[in-house]
Amino acid sequence: MSETAGGRPAALLAAAWSDLGDSPALVVTGAGISLASGISTFRGSDPGAIWEASDMELATVDYFERDPVGQWRWYLERFRRLDDAEPNPAHYALADLERLHAAGGGELTVVTQNIDLLHERAGSRRLIKVHGSSDRVRCSRVGCRHGAPAGSLPRTEVDLERFRRSPAQDTLPRCPLCAAPLRAHVLFFDEYYQEHVDYRFGDAMAAAERAALVLFAGTSFSVGITDLIGRAARRRRVPVFSIDPNPAPQARVYGVRTLAARAEEVLPELLAVLGGPAASSGRDQTQEES
Ligand SMILES: [Zn+2]
Repeated sequence: MSETAGGRPAALLAAAWSDLGDSPALVVTGAGISLASGISTFRGSDPGAIWEASDMELATVDYFERDPVGQWRWYLERFRRLDDAEPNPAHYALADLERLHAAGGGELTVVTQNIDLLHERAGSRRLIKVHGSSDRVRCSRVGCRHGAPAGSLPRTEVDLERFRRSPAQDTLPRCPLCAAPLRAHVLFFDEYYQEHVDYRFGDAMAAAERAALVLFAGTSFSVGITDLIGRAARRRRVPVFSIDPNPAPQARVYGVRTLAARAEEVLPELLAVLGGPAASSGRDQTQEES
């Protein structure tokens, strides 16, 4: 263990985790954990992109209202990529860590900002998808039984084929109850966590208030839930770690110990140190797209 990924902070993380006993742990994940599964957030790496707006403009209620056809085309392409992706060793190691910690009487909660399905497919159980999920859609009309604040539909139950073949206003996927246009079941940039119960904002913050150790993996701290959880951890003076190959300067604000390495290296190594099952053994490695 002389050359651990992330260096000395990795050893400190393993030590802090060992000291946890049966106290609760919280892991917050972001886009960086799914990079090794070929999922990129930004279209900058997508030479086939035909959209002029940025991700941040496209993923808004404002854009949905101006150009639902354009937004749906973008989400169909995004969903296709997410559907094709496989969990990587970081996802599997987190699921194994959850089982290992549970076996010792502890709870490990994962709060993810990712809408992909890779944590649940890898086996994570105590999972809060605070930005929504790519396997569901919902009615755009607030108050509809299939819309906010509590309703949604499995994406597989909606016929998207007609729109896929011929994207236009009159082929837009519509709510089976009220015929309003459907929308992605995700938190748009111009929306709030409290707008849908599925985001489980209260559960995420409750986990932050319980956690005796907080680990960020593949996320920055600048906005939203990461900022709130970082502040809660600092106020409660619990150890906070971050796995980030390109450490963000904001990490210092929260007193974070940063492991400058990739999650798919650090997490299996942490699991091995803690005596968990050999991570990702017998599992297919995913190919990287980049
Ligand atoms: Zn409806």
